[in-house]
Amino acid sequence: MDQVLRTPPPPVDVTAAPAVAAATFGVEAGGAIDLGSERDRAFLLHAAGEPGAVMPLAVMPIAVMKVSNAAEHPDVLDMEAAVALHALAVDPALPIAQPHLAPAGLHRAAWTTPEGTHWVRMYDLLAGTRRADPTTLTDRAVIEWGTTTARLGRAMRGFIHPRAIRSLPWDVQHALQVRPMLPAIADPTVRQLVARTLDRFEEVVAPRWAALRAQVVHGDLTTDNALVAPDGTITGIIDFGDMSHTALAVDIASILDSLAAHRSRTEMLRIARLALDGYQRITPLEPDELAIIGELWAARTAVGLAIGSWRAAEGLEDAEFAQRYHAGAATMLDQLMGIGWQRLAAELGGRHDSAADSRELVARRDVFGPATEGLSYDEPIHMAGAHGTWMTDVHGRRYLDMYNNVPCVGHTHPRVTEAIARQSRVLNTNMRYLHAGAIELAERLVDTCPASLDTVFFVNSGSEANDLAWRLATTVTGNAGALCTTRAYHGISAAIAPLSPETLPPEAVPPTVDTWTPTDTYRGLHTGTEGFAAALERLDALGIAPALVILDGVLQSDGVYDLDPAYVQALLRLTRAAGGLWVADEVQGGHGRTGEAMWSFERFGIEPDIVTLGKPMGNGHPVGAVITRRDIAERFADGTTFFSTFGGNPVSMAASHAVLDVLADERVLPRVVEAGEALRTAARAVAEQHECIGDVRGIGLANAIEIVTDRATTTPDPAMADQIKNALRRHGVLVGTTGIHGNVLKVRPPLAFTAAEVPVFTAALQAALRDVFA
Ligand code: PMP
Repeated sequence: MDQVLRTPPPPVDVTAAPAVAAATFGVEAGGAIDLGSERDRAFLLHAAGEPGAVMPLAVMPIAVMKVSNAAEHPDVLDMEAAVALHALAVDPALPIAQPHLAPAGLHRAAWTTPEGTHWVRMYDLLAGTRRADPTTLTDRAVIEWGTTTARLGRAMRGFIHPRAIRSLPWDVQHALQVRPMLPAIADPTVRQLVARTLDRFEEVVAPRWAALRAQVVHGDLTTDNALVAPDGTITGIIDFGDMSHTALAVDIASILDSLAAHRSRTEMLRIARLALDGYQRITPLEPDELAIIGELWAARTAVGLAIGSWRAAEGLEDAEFAQRYHAGAATMLDQLMGIGWQRLAAELGGRHDSAADSRELVARRDVFGPATEGLSYDEPIHMAGAHGTWMTDVHGRRYLDMYNNVPCVGHTHPRVTEAIARQSRVLNTNMRYLHAGAIELAERLVDTCPASLDTVFFVNSGSEANDLAWRLATTVTGNAGALCTTRAYHGISAAIAPLSPETLPPEAVPPTVDTWTPTDTYRGLHTGTEGFAAALERLDALGIAPALVILDGVLQSDGVYDLDPAYVQALLRLTRAAGGLWVADEVQGGHGRTGEAMWSFERFGIEPDIVTLGKPMGNGHPVGAVITRRDIAERFADGTTFFSTFGGNPVSMAASHAVLDVLADERVLPRVVEAGEALRTAARAVAEQHECIGDVRGIGLANAIEIVTDRATTTPDPAMADQIKNALRRHGVLVGTTGIHGNVLKVRPPLAFTAAEVPVFTAALQAALRDVFA
């Protein structure tokens, strides 16, 4: 137990205070008012009037004088002066009371009595009143309280002092030290609550303490230690007596304990969230901090109850001071514990998915209705997190992700997540205001394309990009028809769903849309352009000319084929001859998926009329784009203007810039080529031992493993493909199935995938095949 908490406050009262002020700092005061304190004595010195408990209206306040506890070490007092000056130097607008210099050049002066020496300090007067009733604070004041706390923490970040390493039980770092005080808590129910809170602290918080962000913090910015304006906002920070080197989050525990007191359970949580919002305007909390913020808050309340009860029992505590605190604290602790620790964390923003909920969530997914696509796998996966090319489920099981192409530079890439978070903290708005993000991104995209493609529209998804491509093409050509591949997928809008036969029954496809089957490189089928020409002729027979032909350059939905450039060039010529535009859908094949180039159309040696982007563009953040020629945009502009509320918003742009930056900085494209080759080589070695693998093919990291009943007939075996997919999942690898017959394993990892992960994949593939044929 800190000696300061055991030693009675200094023996000085309002009558003696002016003489002390004169003797120490040479301050001439007509009177003093006792400001009350736990272990020191604090006085408001004034020029005239009668001394008393209530401030006479007529007095002229001069300064605040603090007479320290005899047990207080002068180094600690010097530290308190130093930190105030440090914080003011960092953030001069913080309303911190300035310590005065005493005649001897220190921020303290000695006052000696027969009981010992007390150090006296003098402070500036600040506006505002002390000990605001926290229930009278406005919401705005609560939010600002959080902000001021974070600003103070930030201003103290670089401060260090040997005396800051101390063991004050108020600092919840040392919460367990109050256990011997528990017998002093008279009410057995309250004693029990405090004991259980400390047990929880020991079990959950103490082991994590070493990982928490730590620095010297104020630790006690409660309503007792702040002056406030009539609306409750902080006008003065007046007491660094509880400062110590501890977890940063200790500051938050103290303000929640103070601000949320004397409120209903619902109100208490609401107030806590507002205070946290204010805090996180300046200093976002880390997930580890958010996860235990409820325990820290409860520990702070429990510690307060224990210390107060013990000091009152020892006769050290001003009974009224103790009572004010205890009244609300016990109720608050009871309410906090009633919520349950997990739920409390969720209520305070530390929300995370848990295995306990998986089964129930599967049932509740019914809210999405029958048209929404179902979950992957016979045994659905409940994901909790992901990094790079690895995903982790709620049980902590890791999966090698060889399915998700959206997190192109890797799941949760810090460049992207930080760009998103940083930009969202600064500004997110629309393209009606000037902002460099969208302009610069458009310029960067144009730079990656043939010179004719010089105009960019920003949208929010691949579907929207293709939908806009459709509007451009129909406007420019005046035509109404379209061609896509047999099994294509291009999106969900009313115009584009018909161009997505993968998800549409054939009878739902309108007569304006026809399809052609692209080259099956495995079976040597459809190598010529006859099928394509026939589709155009069928449209023509109906009196329909094509507005556009759309092609996913890696044929992800048709089965992943490596098309011959001469073949694609011939299709393009036929399209133009029929009066249509060529749309390169780069939603799958773009952003380096092929490894050869940024866009998959580049490998065909063609210049599309329109290029559409989506999925990987924001690494998971929704964003899409259309790149086209100026003459096309001009024709479109004749009839309409284009505006998308979210299209080109600064946050999406920040994400998209970050993706392009990482693709360049990590030299992702050459790595894709290398990893793709290693993957196919290794998969072909596995195929040698398995008759069911008919073909291994791919471009970069768009790869396919085709499953057949036997190599002689090459008959597709979709049921087997599905079994292998599910077996791979059991062995910790995620893939999909695709293709006209659904028999192709789609192996399409984030581009963070490297050759080093190949053996993980092949081992799982071997094991999966063993399982399936067992
Ligand atoms: N084009 C292609 C080639 C796609 O694969 C997809 C989505 N799978 C889309 C467009 C549609 O993109 P979104 O889901 O973002 O609308």
